[in-house]
Amino acid sequence: MGRTFFVGGNWKCNGTSEEIKKIVATLNAGQVPSQDVVEVVVSPPYVFLPLVKNELRSDFHVAAQNCWVKKGGAFTGEVSADMLVNLGIPWVILGHSERRAILGESNEFVGDKVAYALSQGLKVIACVGETLEQRESGSTMDVVAAQTKAIAERVKDWSNVVVAYEPVWAIGTGKVATPAQAQEVHAELRKWLQANVSAEVAASTRIIYGGSVSGANCKELAGQPDVDGFLVGGASLKPEFIDIIKAAEVKKSA
Ligand code: PEP
Repeated sequence: MGRTFFVGGNWKCNGTSEEIKKIVATLNAGQVPSQDVVEVVVSPPYVFLPLVKNELRSDFHVAAQNCWVKKGGAFTGEVSADMLVNLGIPWVILGHSERRAILGESNEFVGDKVAYALSQGLKVIACVGETLEQRESGSTMDVVAAQTKAIAERVKDWSNVVVAYEPVWAIGTGKVATPAQAQEVHAELRKWLQANVSAEVAASTRIIYGGSVSGANCKELAGQPDVDGFLVGGASLKPEFIDIIKAAEVKKSA
């Protein structure tokens, strides 16, 4: 089965309820390809999840930006996967580099969170990616392989996992990876999945690119054979997100 193009919008820690309603209204009015061509998931801050879920068009879905590593309880400030399921939130982003770097989330901790979220029935956008220093020292593949391995060691069923390759140096910097740089890592990641998980998982798992994706650069990136979509930060708050969703047409005509 082909890999349906996937476009995620990570709204990070942005927005008032009025601003969020405006973004949702823009999305609801957008003319985009059908769900068999592109799967669209937007990720507002926790507090706006019910609002967005209620107001968003039914062919787009919502994701939380994180969830706790196990069942809820005495963990002040955390939100458990169980609670997201209870609210009818189907997706969660885990292992975003802003959490790995700022909050010190280790590969193992992210792997545990992915496994727990999946066990509760959530679908997971699992983020991996190297820093500039790691890229310049030639260890990009070692870094993303180690991040992916920590997930693979804990996860048997990959059907509800989308892997987001997000080079840290490209996130929020305006410095997008070149199509060749993105393709190179995506192809290597797919090879890693083939060698370490299975040929089937390698062929069916969506590997999406994130890092300064915009309306201007999305089509060229989407043209790469192993780029199965995008995780978009800054541009997902703007009307150009609709153009990024439409980049799925590049695959359809390929
Ligand atoms: C992100 O936050 O996942 C991201 C890719 O951000 P941006 O598109 O702003 O670089």
